[in-house]
Amino acid sequence: MSLSATVNRIKPSATIAAAAKARELKSKGVNVHDFTLGEPDFNTPEHICEAAVAAMKAGHTHYTASGGIVELKKAICDAYQRDYGLKYDPAQVIVSSGAKHSIHNVITTLVGPGDEVIIPAPYWVSYSDLVEIAGATPVLVNTTRESGWTLSPGQLEAAITPRSKLLMLNNPCNPTGAAYPVETLEGLAKVAVNRNLMVLSDEIYEKLIYPPARFRCFATFGDDVRARTILVSGVSKAYAMTGWRIGWTIGPVEIIKGMDKLQSQETSNPCSISQYAAIAALNGPQDCIEDMRKEFEKRRAYVLDRLKRIPGVKLAEPGGAFYAFFDVTSSFGKPLMNGRVVQNATDFCTALLEEAHVALVTGDAFGAPGYVRLSFATSIKALEAGFNQIEKFLAG
Ligand SMILES: *Cc1c(COP(=O)(O)O)cnc(C)c1O
Repeated sequence: MSLSATVNRIKPSATIAAAAKARELKSKGVNVHDFTLGEPDFNTPEHICEAAVAAMKAGHTHYTASGGIVELKKAICDAYQRDYGLKYDPAQVIVSSGAKHSIHNVITTLVGPGDEVIIPAPYWVSYSDLVEIAGATPVLVNTTRESGWTLSPGQLEAAITPRSKLLMLNNPCNPTGAAYPVETLEGLAKVAVNRNLMVLSDEIYEKLIYPPARFRCFATFGDDVRARTILVSGVSKAYAMTGWRIGWTIGPVEIIKGMDKLQSQETSNPCSISQYAAIAALNGPQDCIEDMRKEFEKRRAYVLDRLKRIPGVKLAEPGGAFYAFFDVTSSFGKPLMNGRVVQNATDFCTALLEEAHVALVTGDAFGAPGYVRLSFATSIKALEAGFNQIEKFLAG
């Protein structure tokens, strides 16, 4: 049987594949130190779970409007007013089944064959494949560790062609943890306005920021910037709600309407019960976010301390999210644990898993050869045990 050209063209999600490999080893009874996780390890806060139970008991177990219920759209608007002083109308909001779904629908609504989408690399694994599913062309622009993994306005300018339609920004960034400085964002916004480019700003890690880094929402640079900004975020990372599958898009009404049409033919509404839980998350007490952020901050400090002690490891300190993204090229071509020798980051991750039972994700998956991603969405105790293994692995 032959499958479609689209499906043959795309790759499976590399982070999901890395996690599956670690799980497979675990199922054989091996004690795996798994740092592939792309989600908070905390439970969803109790008051949010209770709201879901109440919604079920109240009979909110049916289809809703395909773009989400108005109460949730209002709660999202209130949150942007509260957090960033941005006034949005529910007509400018659509709720989807997770932010990944939101991103897919933005891309499908906006671009197609002949269009170019500019993606700063390293980038989140799904970006380029989602662009390819839409038949458009991903244009990768490499950023550097020295620049803190941020795209400069000059780089953006240079990447624009008459076919460029969309820039996909991810701030803070998965996998690098880069939190864009305000001046850089402002510069990028200026280029977007001057060159008539739309900007999809994936801000799913907006609440996970480590001072002195600060977060700035891309839609806050004035009306002309806002008119070409499509914000994507959701409850997954901020409220530890990855399994509930609620993400949203905020942007120009025309785009939201197009997405609503698409969604009505594709998935219909996001889970009704999860929508009520998301209302409780957004309208309820917000201190749960800060409690989790503080915990991530401690882990981040621990990880940076351990990484600094490893000779040859190079990284730009993450300003946000929960990943450390570091260069392992100095270990290439040398005997590692049990005589293993590796020549690239993918082989490094395979050998590290097989010999030392530590699971990381290869930078090759994110368009960053020579690098690996370590998620610190796990306890300090687990990080400690894992780093002891990493040190043994590198010592040979
Ligand atoms: C986790 C993640 C998302 C998607 O989250 P959902 O669970 O689909 O809401 C989107 N973008 C980035 C960069 C992520 O890391």
